Amino acid sequence: MNALEAELSSQFGPAFERDRVLACLTSFKIGGTADLFVTVNDENQLAAAITAAYEHSVPVFCLGGGTNLLVSDRGIRGLVLTLGPGLASIAINGSHVSAGAAVRFHELVERVSESGLAGLEFGEGIPGTVGGGLVMNAGAFGGEIARVVTHVHGVTETGARRTLTNQEIGFTYRRAALPRGFVIARVEFALQPGDSDALWARIHAIRARRAARQPGDYPNAGSVFKNPPGNFAGRLLETAGLKGMRIGSAAFSSRHANFIVNLGGARAEEVRRLMELARDKVLQATGVLLEPEVKLVGEW
Ligand SMILES: Cc1cc2nc3c(=O)[nH]c(=O)nc-3n(C[C@H](O)[C@H](O)[C@H](O)COP(=O)(O)OP(=O)(O)OC[C@H]3O[C@@H](n4cnc5c(N)ncnc54)[C@H](O)[C@@H]3O)c2cc1C
Repeated sequence: MNALEAELSSQFGPAFERDRVLACLTSFKIGGTADLFVTVNDENQLAAAITAAYEHSVPVFCLGGGTNLLVSDRGIRGLVLTLGPGLASIAINGSHVSAGAAVRFHELVERVSESGLAGLEFGEGIPGTVGGGLVMNAGAFGGEIARVVTHVHGVTETGARRTLTNQEIGFTYRRAALPRGFVIARVEFALQPGDSDALWARIHAIRARRAARQPGDYPNAGSVFKNPPGNFAGRLLETAGLKGMRIGSAAFSSRHANFIVNLGGARAEEVRRLMELARDKVLQATGVLLEPEVKLVGEW
């Protein structure tokens, strides 16, 4: 680790940090530190950082917007990579769109809608980045990113550049089956020509539905559990009496049963215990085993 630290420090200068606090980089505002932390700003830097970590057998984790993560109180061992503004540009060519993985998903939705391109309006209000959205196959209101992606460009765990087609990725509900350790640099989309006013009307309608349903008052990471086939996790959690249930400073929202909120200073361990309690109670009450949508990362 020390040799890698020296290499990253000389290569990345101030873009390299040690013991970086991660809580402020997550929407939950929870989590310990990353041993090593680098912000990369182009594909060459991305490949260089991954190659260096691979050669030193140090694990790599890519942090996007941190909006679907529960980072352990003990933090993340190894190297945490994040993508900087150099990987946050959008290029529109007819109905073909190329977006850097660090682009904020909501910014992409707004840019393409302004340009009269349809297919991404469902993403209004989904926080995080294009890269994170791809990995999570982010979706809402009947749409999902998998339906409009054509190609994904990135770097493999050994540091090699690779392009994957939509079919190679194998998307399923809230999941993209990417090769292990693959870090996305850029995503290409094929959209449809649409009427800009109609697209904005849809976006405003979605914005209003989200504002009515979601707890915007406390830090959270969106839906905690995936919806099981033919059912809604929120409904099952409510049936099992979880709404409002609290452990320490973590609680199921009284507004949306599938959201856990950080009431102030919650610890990752409290959120995890609450998730386990909920999973057990729902299984007991309904016979359905809920699967987490939020990713638990780091050392537990
Ligand atoms: C209020 C709120 C509402 C939400 N609503 C929705 C919703 O309606 N629908 C929905 O699907 N989700 C929703 N989410 C969850 C979350 O916003 C999405 O899953 C989002 O796409 C995650 O993106 P991110 O950049 O924050 O990824 P992160 O949380 O940072 O990471 C998620 C995963 O992606 C990986 N990753 C991130 N970037 C890269 C990259 N460049 N290369 C490789 N791997 C990468 C991470 O390693 C991790 O495994 C919501 C969250 C919140 C807080």
